[in-house]
Amino acid sequence: MTHEPGRSLWQETTREVLSAPVLTGEVSADLVVIGGGYTGCSAALRAAEMGADVCLLEADSFGAGGSGRNVGLVNAGLWLPPEEINAALGHVAGARLSELLAAAPAAVFDLIKTHQIDCEPVRSGTLHCAHAPSGLKDLHNRHRQLAAIGAPVRLLSRSEAIARVGSDAVHGALFDPRAGTIQPLAYAIGLARAAMAQGARLHAQSPVVSLDRHATGWLVATPGGTVRARHLIMATNAYPQPIAGYAAPASIPVSYFQAATAPLPDDLANEILPQGEGCWDTGLIMSSWRRDRAGRLIIGGMGELSHPAGRVHSNWLRRKLAGMFPALADYPLETQWAGKIAMTTEHIPKIIDLGQGFACFGYSGRGIGPGTLFGRRMADALIGEDPSQLPVPLSHHHRLPFAGLRGAYYETGATLIHLLAERSGSRSPAVDQ
Ligand SMILES: Cc1cc2nc3c(=O)[nH]c(=O)nc-3n(C[C@H](O)[C@H](O)[C@H](O)COP(=O)(O)OP(=O)(O)OC[C@H]3O[C@@H](n4cnc5c(N)ncnc54)[C@H](O)[C@@H]3O)c2cc1C
Repeated sequence: MTHEPGRSLWQETTREVLSAPVLTGEVSADLVVIGGGYTGCSAALRAAEMGADVCLLEADSFGAGGSGRNVGLVNAGLWLPPEEINAALGHVAGARLSELLAAAPAAVFDLIKTHQIDCEPVRSGTLHCAHAPSGLKDLHNRHRQLAAIGAPVRLLSRSEAIARVGSDAVHGALFDPRAGTIQPLAYAIGLARAAMAQGARLHAQSPVVSLDRHATGWLVATPGGTVRARHLIMATNAYPQPIAGYAAPASIPVSYFQAATAPLPDDLANEILPQGEGCWDTGLIMSSWRRDRAGRLIIGGMGELSHPAGRVHSNWLRRKLAGMFPALADYPLETQWAGKIAMTTEHIPKIIDLGQGFACFGYSGRGIGPGTLFGRRMADALIGEDPSQLPVPLSHHHRLPFAGLRGAYYETGATLIHLLAERSGSRSPAVDQ
């Protein structure tokens, strides 16, 4: 494989491709969806399945936002454990959301099967690994909360975790058999393809530049055309491009970057994640690692590559790889890329009521299952005229002062932790954060 600088592994390896025309002229639809990631494509697919006339506008190519850049862990819940979700949403709404999200991986893998999406689906579960002995407390707490709501999660001892991960840098793990991994960009493009096959009209390279609300619906304009629609779903999440007449809800931008090795030779592939689980750790500044279909190891961590401290993060990643898997210390890293996560203060996604429409955002790093679920449920609520389908209570206002500053706080934390690891000369991830 030849690598084009600046392109992600997912762009290099996707077998799903989609050609969608630029919007030109004046069209009308029952529903206009803005943003072609998991949320927008799932909403368009579901609405088209329900018989609605749907128009989906994507500023760039499908999956160009977070959906084409992420780790590809299909989790069965949010970042927060259930009791914290209940504390934020109230017990009834919180328990309902946890129940819906528990079923999200099954829904994702079902959609992949139904629409024959070629996105490397592997349902071998995930391992949330203790990065240091202190991380075990967090895992025990999560295990207790998840087991209490019937999740089939299992705590693995240090030796079990070491054998599953193929690294003695882990101190135990929480195994979730409901979860799995996918090629994330291919999943986004596959959802878009499925929506198109159901009759939705999809337009790439068609950024929405203005939005007007009328008594009977919406008028949406791109540089080349307009769409009149009764309903609207705004699904631009962490990647909103400016739209006149609309203020995108603010979220805290958190940068996360990844790098992929060359495919591992058989002897290493038999040792490192031989069962193909996706992993992340309990570090305050977390990191993740997984394999892909070709046997590459993909490792990532929080941090912004394009700012002055980018080198600190790249150096840290190299050392992290060497610390976790000494056999890979000098193994080539072939691709490196980054993405922006949209965090909310509560770490719970929000649906804002726009009146005859919704804006949905803030998956806080957990958007594959949740984005698929929220997109489908927003379509159910609008086209089926049944707001009770929404997975979270509607928000009528959203203010997040100093969102950019809060993002800088995460970036500073990541830089300091990665710098600390560099100064301590640590090859291992056991800097106890
Ligand atoms: C590095 C990284 C790692 C992650 N890891 C995971 C993980 O392992 N598991 C997991 O579940 N989640 C993960 N996430 C989160 C997940 O990727 C996101 O939550 C999810 O992709 C959000 O999907 P979305 O459709 O809401 O938004 P996006 O995929 O960001 O799509 C928004 C789209 O809107 C388009 N757009 C913006 N403005 C306009 C406009 N004016 N007109 C038209 N289109 C517009 C953009 O071009 C973009 O394509 C990760 C995120 C990142 C960045």
